[in-house]
Amino acid sequence: MKVGVLALQGAFIEHEKKLRALGAETVEVRLPSDLEGLDGLIMPGGESTTIGKLAVQYGLIEPLRAFAQNKPTWGTCAGMIFLAKDIGIDRQPILGLMDITVNRNAFGRQVDSFEVDLSVSVLGDAPFHAVFIRAPVVTGVGEGVNVLATLDDGRIVAAQSGHLLATAFHPELTADNRFHKYFLNIIGQKPA
Ligand code: GLN
Repeated sequence: MKVGVLALQGAFIEHEKKLRALGAETVEVRLPSDLEGLDGLIMPGGESTTIGKLAVQYGLIEPLRAFAQNKPTWGTCAGMIFLAKDIGIDRQPILGLMDITVNRNAFGRQVDSFEVDLSVSVLGDAPFHAVFIRAPVVTGVGEGVNVLATLDDGRIVAAQSGHLLATAFHPELTADNRFHKYFLNIIGQKPA
Protein backbone atom coordinates (compact mmCIF):
# COMPACT_ATOMS: atom_id res chain seq x y z
CA MET A 1 0.00 0.00 0.00
CA LYS A 2 1.37 3.38 -1.02
CA VAL A 3 0.20 6.31 1.10
CA GLY A 4 1.05 9.94 0.48
CA VAL A 5 1.57 12.49 3.22
CA LEU A 6 1.11 16.14 2.25
CA ALA A 7 4.52 17.56 3.14
CA LEU A 8 4.17 21.32 2.64
CA GLN A 9 4.32 22.19 6.34
CA GLY A 10 3.49 20.67 9.71
CA ALA A 11 3.68 17.24 11.31
CA PHE A 12 4.16 15.08 8.22
CA ILE A 13 7.23 13.10 9.37
CA GLU A 14 5.38 11.70 12.38
CA HIS A 15 2.60 10.40 10.12
CA GLU A 16 5.15 8.77 7.84
CA LYS A 17 6.76 6.97 10.77
CA LYS A 18 3.40 5.58 11.88
CA LEU A 19 2.48 4.44 8.39
CA ARG A 20 5.83 2.74 7.87
CA ALA A 21 5.59 1.02 11.24
CA LEU A 22 2.32 -0.46 9.95
CA GLY A 23 3.97 -1.72 6.75
CA ALA A 24 2.79 0.95 4.30
CA GLU A 25 5.06 2.64 1.79
CA THR A 26 5.04 6.44 2.15
CA VAL A 27 5.49 9.28 -0.33
CA GLU A 28 5.95 12.95 0.58
CA VAL A 29 3.57 14.99 -1.54
CA ARG A 30 4.76 18.46 -2.58
CA LEU A 31 3.92 18.53 -6.27
CA PRO A 32 0.89 17.32 -8.26
CA SER A 33 2.97 14.52 -9.83
CA ASP A 34 3.68 13.09 -6.36
CA LEU A 35 0.02 12.00 -6.20
CA GLU A 36 0.42 9.52 -9.03
CA GLY A 37 -0.08 5.91 -8.01
CA LEU A 38 -1.04 6.66 -4.40
CA ASP A 39 -3.72 4.59 -2.66
CA GLY A 40 -4.48 7.23 -0.04
CA LEU A 41 -3.34 10.52 1.44
CA ILE A 42 -2.88 12.07 4.89
CA MET A 43 -2.97 15.85 5.27
CA PRO A 44 -1.21 16.66 8.54
CA GLY A 45 -1.63 19.23 11.27
CA GLY A 46 0.33 22.44 11.18
CA GLU A 47 -1.01 25.81 10.13
CA SER A 48 -3.89 25.59 7.70
CA THR A 49 -3.36 29.11 6.31
CA THR A 50 0.25 28.22 5.41
CA ILE A 51 -0.69 24.82 4.00
CA GLY A 52 -3.41 26.50 1.89
CA LYS A 53 -1.08 29.22 0.60
CA LEU A 54 1.65 26.74 -0.34
CA ALA A 55 -0.88 24.42 -1.98
CA VAL A 56 -1.99 27.34 -4.18
CA GLN A 57 1.63 28.20 -5.04
CA TYR A 58 2.50 24.63 -5.98
CA GLY A 59 -0.61 24.19 -8.11
CA LEU A 60 -1.89 21.50 -5.77
CA ILE A 61 -5.44 22.62 -5.04
CA GLU A 62 -7.18 21.06 -8.05
CA PRO A 63 -5.01 17.89 -8.11
CA LEU A 64 -5.66 17.36 -4.38
CA ARG A 65 -9.39 17.90 -4.93
CA ALA A 66 -9.45 15.40 -7.78
CA PHE A 67 -7.50 12.89 -5.69
CA ALA A 68 -9.59 13.20 -2.53
CA GLN A 69 -12.81 13.01 -4.48
CA ASN A 70 -12.37 9.28 -4.85
CA LYS A 71 -9.29 8.16 -2.90
CA PRO A 72 -9.18 7.75 0.89
CA THR A 73 -7.96 11.00 2.42
CA TRP A 74 -7.49 11.83 6.09
CA GLY A 75 -7.05 15.32 7.48
CA THR A 76 -5.68 15.80 11.01
CA CYS A 77 -6.12 19.18 12.70
CA ALA A 78 -5.00 21.77 10.09
CA GLY A 79 -5.51 18.99 7.53
CA MET A 80 -9.11 18.64 8.72
CA ILE A 81 -9.63 22.38 8.23
CA PHE A 82 -8.16 22.07 4.71
CA LEU A 83 -10.48 19.16 3.89
CA ALA A 84 -13.70 20.78 5.18
CA LYS A 85 -16.45 22.24 3.05
CA ASP A 86 -17.06 25.23 5.30
CA ILE A 87 -14.71 27.02 7.71
CA GLY A 88 -16.61 30.30 7.79
CA ILE A 89 -13.67 32.19 6.22
CA ASP A 90 -13.80 33.06 2.52
CA ARG A 91 -10.22 34.17 1.90
CA GLN A 92 -8.45 31.05 3.16
CA PRO A 93 -7.84 28.42 0.47
CA ILE A 94 -9.31 25.01 1.35
CA LEU A 95 -10.24 21.91 -0.61
CA GLY A 96 -13.88 22.22 0.47
CA LEU A 97 -14.64 18.52 0.02
CA MET A 98 -15.88 16.92 3.21
CA ASP A 99 -19.36 17.93 4.26
CA ILE A 100 -18.42 19.28 7.68
CA THR A 101 -18.37 22.78 9.11
CA VAL A 102 -15.21 23.49 11.07
CA ASN A 103 -14.36 26.21 13.53
CA ARG A 104 -10.62 26.99 13.65
CA ASN A 105 -8.84 27.55 16.96
CA ALA A 106 -12.02 26.58 18.75
CA PHE A 107 -10.47 26.30 22.19
CA GLY A 108 -9.10 29.83 22.41
CA ARG A 109 -5.95 30.80 24.20
CA GLN A 110 -6.58 29.55 27.73
CA VAL A 111 -6.70 25.89 26.85
CA ASP A 112 -5.24 26.03 23.39
CA SER A 113 -3.51 22.69 23.92
CA PHE A 114 -4.69 19.74 26.01
CA GLU A 115 -4.85 15.96 26.08
CA VAL A 116 -7.88 13.81 26.76
CA ASP A 117 -8.96 10.17 26.59
CA LEU A 118 -11.65 9.78 23.96
CA SER A 119 -14.06 6.96 23.46
CA VAL A 120 -13.91 6.00 19.76
CA SER A 121 -16.12 2.97 19.19
CA VAL A 122 -14.72 2.12 15.74
CA LEU A 123 -11.31 1.60 17.40
CA GLY A 124 -12.58 -0.78 20.09
CA ASP A 125 -13.20 -0.43 23.82
CA ALA A 126 -9.92 1.08 24.99
CA PRO A 127 -9.99 4.89 25.03
CA PHE A 128 -7.84 6.78 22.54
CA HIS A 129 -5.47 9.31 24.08
CA ALA A 130 -5.89 12.43 21.96
CA VAL A 131 -3.53 15.41 21.77
CA PHE A 132 -5.18 18.72 20.81
CA ILE A 133 -2.94 21.60 19.71
CA ARG A 134 -4.71 24.87 18.89
CA ALA A 135 -7.32 22.52 17.57
CA PRO A 136 -10.42 23.07 15.50
CA VAL A 137 -13.80 21.46 16.19
CA VAL A 138 -16.52 20.25 13.88
CA THR A 139 -19.62 22.38 14.43
CA GLY A 140 -21.85 20.72 11.85
CA VAL A 141 -21.99 17.58 9.74
CA GLY A 142 -23.87 16.97 6.51
CA GLU A 143 -25.80 13.90 5.44
CA GLY A 144 -23.79 10.70 5.31
CA VAL A 145 -21.14 11.97 7.74
CA ASN A 146 -20.56 9.71 10.73
CA VAL A 147 -19.44 11.20 14.01
CA LEU A 148 -16.60 9.01 15.37
CA ALA A 149 -15.76 10.89 18.56
CA THR A 150 -16.97 13.75 20.71
CA LEU A 151 -15.65 15.51 23.78
CA ASP A 152 -17.63 15.17 27.02
CA ASP A 153 -19.47 18.40 26.20
CA GLY A 154 -20.66 16.90 22.88
CA ARG A 155 -18.36 18.79 20.55
CA ILE A 156 -17.36 16.69 17.53
CA VAL A 157 -13.64 15.96 17.13
CA ALA A 158 -13.57 13.03 14.69
CA ALA A 159 -15.79 12.20 11.72
CA GLN A 160 -15.91 10.04 8.62
CA SER A 161 -17.72 10.45 5.35
CA GLY A 162 -17.17 7.33 3.28
CA HIS A 163 -13.50 7.44 2.23
CA LEU A 164 -12.87 10.80 3.94
CA LEU A 165 -11.66 10.92 7.54
CA ALA A 166 -11.17 13.94 9.78
CA THR A 167 -9.71 14.28 13.27
CA ALA A 168 -9.29 17.54 15.18
CA PHE A 169 -6.42 16.06 17.20
CA HIS A 170 -3.01 14.51 16.44
CA PRO A 171 -2.98 10.67 16.43
CA GLU A 172 0.56 10.76 14.99
CA LEU A 173 1.92 12.16 18.27
CA THR A 174 1.07 9.26 20.56
CA ALA A 175 2.15 5.61 20.64
CA ASP A 176 -1.32 4.32 19.73
CA ASN A 177 -1.43 3.13 16.10
CA ARG A 178 -5.14 2.37 15.95
CA PHE A 179 -6.27 5.45 14.03
CA HIS A 180 -3.61 4.89 11.38
CA LYS A 181 -4.62 1.23 11.16
CA TYR A 182 -8.24 2.31 10.78
CA PHE A 183 -7.26 4.59 7.88
CA LEU A 184 -5.27 1.81 6.20
CA ASN A 185 -8.39 -0.37 6.51
CA ILE A 186 -10.45 2.29 4.72
CA ILE A 187 -7.84 2.22 1.93
CA GLY A 188 -7.94 -1.59 1.84
CA GLN A 189 -11.72 -1.63 1.48
CA LYS A 190 -11.89 0.89 -1.33
CA PRO A 191 -11.98 -0.69 -4.79
CA ALA A 192 -9.21 0.74 -7.02
N1 GLN B 1 -4.68 26.23 14.57
C1 GLN B 1 -4.17 25.62 13.38
C2 GLN B 1 -4.90 26.11 12.14
O1 GLN B 1 -5.81 26.85 12.22
C3 GLN B 1 -4.27 24.11 13.44
C4 GLN B 1 -3.37 23.59 14.53
C5 GLN B 1 -2.83 22.22 14.27
O2 GLN B 1 -2.87 21.70 13.16
N2 GLN B 1 -2.27 21.64 15.29
O3 GLN B 1 -4.53 25.73 11.07
